[in-house]
Amino acid sequence: MELNGGYEEVVIRRGRRSGLDMVIAVHSTALGPALGGVRLWHYPTTDDGVADALRLARGMTYKAAAAGLDLGGGKGVICAPAGDPPAGDLRHDLLLDFGDLVESLDGRYITAEDVGMSPVDLVTIRSRTAHLTGLPVELGGSGDPSPITAIGVEAAMRACVRDVFGSSDLAGRRVAIVGMGHVGGRLARRLAEDGAELVVSDLDVTKRGIADALEAEWTEPDDAMLVECDVLAPCALGGGITHANVSALNAEIICGSANNQLADEGLDRALAERGILYAPDFIVNAGGLMHVYRELRGYSEAEALELVLGIEETMERILATSADRDITPLAAAHELAEERLALATGRIASAA
Ligand code: NAD
Repeated sequence: MELNGGYEEVVIRRGRRSGLDMVIAVHSTALGPALGGVRLWHYPTTDDGVADALRLARGMTYKAAAAGLDLGGGKGVICAPAGDPPAGDLRHDLLLDFGDLVESLDGRYITAEDVGMSPVDLVTIRSRTAHLTGLPVELGGSGDPSPITAIGVEAAMRACVRDVFGSSDLAGRRVAIVGMGHVGGRLARRLAEDGAELVVSDLDVTKRGIADALEAEWTEPDDAMLVECDVLAPCALGGGITHANVSALNAEIICGSANNQLADEGLDRALAERGILYAPDFIVNAGGLMHVYRELRGYSEAEALELVLGIEETMERILATSADRDITPLAAAHELAEERLALATGRIASAA
């Protein structure tokens, strides 16, 4: 496997208790320890798990750098067997194995929850290493990041709405939220308080109750991405914007919490050509990372809030660069992260 892209460290180990392959990829520690969740997932081969860890670790470097956090990017992957998620002794063993692997990196990588893991799993990992964040409140952690993430999405949305319509006021703006889970549901409540006109959707029809309580219009999941609106907020799974649906989108702005919203490369340019402002997902949803970052430094809700509200200014800066240089907001966001990383690497080089 080719390791281009400047990774600092990639460790692959077969857990001595569980017998499962596990990976930690540290993309960069230029700005601080590499933080990124650990994913428990079944991959066809260990190489596929490594490739996923590499891709996700790099994304974390960019997310932290663009968010202005003193954190690097890393990611953990545990290659689960096919079938049901590991449970019982096997789960306990793989968590201990992964904890040992994290500990062996001496703080260069900090782990957290990701797909396939739960806060309870983190507690088991903690018995082998202190290099982790995102614990439940009752265990001294910062708890659910979703409320802060939703505040960040709203902040990013204000910057986008100002850019397109001349005012950051969300009152009267028609916003379609796809996915009414932890983040989407909270975002909907905030936007309803702002006076936005809401259209919402979820695969889970029980979420319709939230829609009714907020007097929001309900739409079926199959139609949700194509609703005519000022802002489309994808808050479900990634990959919702594809080459197949890009020409049918009916929004002026796309700004939501879902990770990896663009299914393929080049879709940022396809959206720009259609005159749709795409707010880069890793800027919009950085509130979750800010939340666990604050936990590492002693959680303070006021400080987490201050960080997350700063997403509005970051988005403004990205949109200004995008306009000045005639590049997409996604390209501008990458440049912002790269500038910060170059400064940090320059600092490290001159200090050496
Ligand atoms: P969640 O699982 O609580 O909610 C997702 C919701 O989307 C669920 O209610 C699900 O039924 C619904 N859904 C799934 N597919 C759908 C579809 N095709 N159409 C309509 N609804 C669909 O997850 P969450 O924590 O709210 O996170 C939402 C997204 O934001 C994810 O992509 C996540 O990675 C990202 N994100 C979340 C946070 C956070 O703080 N929770 C932080 C950063 C990024």
